[in-house]
Amino acid sequence: MQPSDFIWMDGKLVPFADATVHVLSHSLHYGNAVFEGIRAYSTPEGPAILQLQAHVKRLFRSSRVLDMKIPFSESEIEAAILETVRRNGHESCYVRPLVFRGFGPLGVLPKGNPIQISVATWEWNSLHAEGGLDTGVDVGFSSWRRMAAGTHPAMAKASGNYLNSQLVVQEAVRHGYAEGLVLDVDGYLSEGSGENVFLVQDGVVLTPPIGNSILAGITRGMVMELCEELGIEVRQARIPREAVFFSQEMFMTGTAAEITPVRTVDGKPLEEAAPGPITKRLQTEFFARVKGTVPDRGGWLTHVRQA
Ligand code: PMP
Repeated sequence: MQPSDFIWMDGKLVPFADATVHVLSHSLHYGNAVFEGIRAYSTPEGPAILQLQAHVKRLFRSSRVLDMKIPFSESEIEAAILETVRRNGHESCYVRPLVFRGFGPLGVLPKGNPIQISVATWEWNSLHAEGGLDTGVDVGFSSWRRMAAGTHPAMAKASGNYLNSQLVVQEAVRHGYAEGLVLDVDGYLSEGSGENVFLVQDGVVLTPPIGNSILAGITRGMVMELCEELGIEVRQARIPREAVFFSQEMFMTGTAAEITPVRTVDGKPLEEAAPGPITKRLQTEFFARVKGTVPDRGGWLTHVRQA
C-alpha cells in the first residue's frame, strides 16, 4: 500500500505515521470494530465518492449493533471522508473508515474503552487479478459455512465477521481460486468472502436475500437498481449450490470487486463465456455511472471538490 499524506483520526487529520493505536486496544483483542469500504472514482468533474451517505449510514447501523456510540454525527463523518480524500490529493481511491474501542480495561465486556474512529485512504485499482473484470475469475465452493443467523451479526460490517471471510479466501487461494463461494448453514448460497453473488438464469437475475447470512452490499443495491432501469427481472431467492450449474452467467459485486464476472466454479465453466451478455451490460452501465460519463440519475456520486 502506498502511504497517503494524512489519516483522519478522532476529529483531525494527522500525518500517516502518527495514526497509531496501543497494543492493548480492546478491538484488537476481541474483533469488535466496525468499518466501511468506499470508493472514490475519477470523473470529468474530479474525484467523486460513490454512495457516501449509504456507506456512512451502514457504518452507524453496524456500530449500533455492537453498542458503540460514535462520538460524531453522520454528516461530520461524511465531511471527514471528503476532507481526507481532498487533502490526500487522490483522483480515485479506496476509503476505509474504522470505528473501534481503544485502550482501556481488557475484560470481554467493554467498559471504559474510548470509541475511536479513523478514516484512511489509499490508491487501489482492482481487487482481483488484473484483467479479471474483462475475462472473469475462477472461484470454488468453500468448505467453510457463513455464520448462522443468531451467531454473528452478518448484516453488520463488523471486523469479527472477517475471521470467516479470511478462512474462506485463504482456502480458495490455496486451491488456486480467486475467491470462495460460501454456503449458509442450511446449505444455500450466501456470498463470497467480500462480495455478494448473482446468477443469471434464462434472462432472470437471481441473488440470495438478506436472510442468507449476507452483508446487504451497497453495490448489490446499485446492481438491482440498474436491473430495474434496464427492464431485467431480479429475484431474491434461496439458491441451492447446484443452481450455479443451471446458470448461464454468474458475477460477484462489491466496493472492491465492483462487478466481477465468474468464469468457472469448481473448475467447471458457466454456460456462457465470461462476461456473459447481461453481466457485460450491467458492467458497462455501472462504470458509466460511477465514472460520471452519463448523468447521475440515482444520486450515487458526491463530488469531492464541490462538496
Ligand atoms: N459481502 C461481504 C462479506 C463484504 O465484505 C462485502 C464488501 N463490503 C460485500 C458483501 C459487498 O458489499 P458492498 O457492495 O457494500 O461493498
